[in-house]
Amino acid sequence: MLTEYDAVVVGSGPNGLAAAIEIARQGRSVLVLERATEIGGGMRTAELTLPGFHHDVCATVLPFGVGSPFFRSLPLERLGLEWVQPEIPLAHPLEGQDGAALYRSLGETASLLGVDAGSYEAVFGKLVSVWDELELALLSPMQRAPLHPVMLAGFARLGLQPATSLLRRIFTSEAARALVAGSAAHSILPLEKPWTSTFGLILTTLGHTRGWPSVRGGTRRLAEALAAHLVELGGEIATDRDVTVFGDIPSARVVLFDTSPGALARIVGDRLPERFSGRLARFEHGPGAFKLDFALAGPIPWAFLPARRAGTVHVGGSLAEIAESERSVWRGVPPERPFVIVAQPSVADTSRAPDGMHVVWAYCHVPSGSSIDMTKSIEDQIERFAPGFRDVILHRSAMSPADFERYNPNYVGGDIAGGAHSGLQIVLRPTSRLVPYRTPAEGVYLCSASTPPGAGVHGMSGFWAARAALAKELR
Ligand SMILES: Cc1cc2nc3c(=O)[nH]c(=O)nc-3n(C[C@H](O)[C@H](O)[C@H](O)COP(=O)(O)OP(=O)(O)OC[C@H]3O[C@@H](n4cnc5c(N)ncnc54)[C@H](O)[C@@H]3O)c2cc1C
Repeated sequence: MLTEYDAVVVGSGPNGLAAAIEIARQGRSVLVLERATEIGGGMRTAELTLPGFHHDVCATVLPFGVGSPFFRSLPLERLGLEWVQPEIPLAHPLEGQDGAALYRSLGETASLLGVDAGSYEAVFGKLVSVWDELELALLSPMQRAPLHPVMLAGFARLGLQPATSLLRRIFTSEAARALVAGSAAHSILPLEKPWTSTFGLILTTLGHTRGWPSVRGGTRRLAEALAAHLVELGGEIATDRDVTVFGDIPSARVVLFDTSPGALARIVGDRLPERFSGRLARFEHGPGAFKLDFALAGPIPWAFLPARRAGTVHVGGSLAEIAESERSVWRGVPPERPFVIVAQPSVADTSRAPDGMHVVWAYCHVPSGSSIDMTKSIEDQIERFAPGFRDVILHRSAMSPADFERYNPNYVGGDIAGGAHSGLQIVLRPTSRLVPYRTPAEGVYLCSASTPPGAGVHGMSGFWAARAALAKELR
C-alpha cells in the first residue's frame, strides 16, 4: 500500500519534535501535526501579562534540556538557541534571613552547609564524578539492557528511599535537608513515598554538572530551533491540525503520539486490543498545578540575599513543611501553605522584561482538577520570605488545572508531568511492556512524557520512541 509519509507525529512538544528529528535524520519522511496555532507544547513563551514581558507558559528552568544527550547531539545553537545560566541555580530561603543555596560549585554549596558540609560532599561528589555515564542510563527506558548496571544499582539504593527518611538520615541541619527536599518535591508525590529521593538527587546533581538554565528570550526559542532543524532535515510541520480520529492522520507506516495515553486510545480506537485500551485507561494521572505569572516593577526583595541572584527559588520552608504541603495535595486538600516553585529568568536574561523590570513564574501543586484559587496562598508564601513582594507587582495572570487542560489536553486534570510518578509508573510508563513506546496496534507508538524517562523538556521519550519505530517498521 502506498503511504504519504514514513512517519506522522501527532503533537509538537519536545518529545514530538525529538521523535520527528530522529526519524528525519535517518533519511525518512516525516510530518508533525499540531493542534495549536503555535508549535512547542510545553515550550511556549507569551506576553501573558503586559506588553514587553515574556513569560514561559509552561517549562522555564531546563536542567534536563541542557543535559539531554539528544538535544546536545543537535546543532541548536547554530539555529538560535542560547542557554542562560543564572549565577546561582537554586536558592532555598528559610525563616528569617537564613537559607541554603545550590551553587554550580559543589565545594561552595557544601561549605555553606555547616555541619552537613562533609555529608553533602560525600553524596553529591560521588554523583557528580559519575554523572556523564549515569545521565544517559537514567534517561533511558529501564527495559533496555541497563547501561552501567552497577552504577545504576548504587544510585537506586539511595534513590528509591523516601526523601523524608534519606534526608533525615544523611543530614542534621534544616538547611541541607530543605535544599534537597525542594528538588525531591518536583516528584509531585508525598515525600514519604519511595523513589522521591531520586528527584532530589538528580536535580541537585544537575545543578552542579549542567546548571539550571533558561533559554534566552524564552523557552519558545528552543521549540523554534528544534523545528528549524527538523525542516532543514526535510521534515514538515502543520499547525491547527487537531487529530481527533485516526482518519485525520495522512497515511504513514508509523504514527507516533506525543499525547496522553487516554488520547491515544480514543484516537486509535478499536485498532487497539480492548485489554490494552483498558490498561491505558487505568494510567494514573497525578495532581494538578496552579500557576501565577507576574510582571514586576523590580526584583523580588528576598530577605535571604542569595535568592536575589538565583534563577529558581524554592519557597516552602523546612522539609517538614514541604512534606506537609505535598501530603495535603495527595489527600485532595489544597495546602494552606503550599510549596511554591518560583522562577525568575529575568535575573539572568534582561531580554525578558523592560529595563529594570522582571518576569516571575510561580506555581504550586494542587489536587487534580482543583478549582480553588491559590493566588493569595502563593503570594503569602513569597511575601513571607520577601517582605514587600506585593508592592512590586504590576500585573499577574493565573492558570488553574482546568486552564492547563484546555491549553494542552496532555495536562489531564492539570497534571503537568504526563502521569503520576507513583509506584512502578515512575519507570513503567504507560504500562509494563518490553518496548514501552510500542502499542499492540501495528505502527502505533506513544512518545510523550507518559513514556520513559518521563516529565521534563529533554526530548528523550521522543528519541527512544523513534529509535523503536526505526528498528521495527522503518528499517
Ligand atoms: C506549568 C508547567 C511548568 C513546567 N515547568 C517545567 C520546567 O521548568 N522544566 C521542565 O523541564 N519541564 C517543565 N514542565 C514539564 C514539561 O513542559 C513537559 O514534561 C514536557 O513539555 C512534555 O513534553 P511532551 O512532548 O511529552 O508533551 P507536550 O509538551 O505537552 O506537547 C504535546 C503537544 O501535543 C499537542 N497535541 C496534544 N494532543 C493533540 C492532538 N490530538 N492533535 C494534535 N496535537 C495534539 C499539544 O497541543 C502539544 O503541543 C512544566 C510543565 C508545565 C505545564
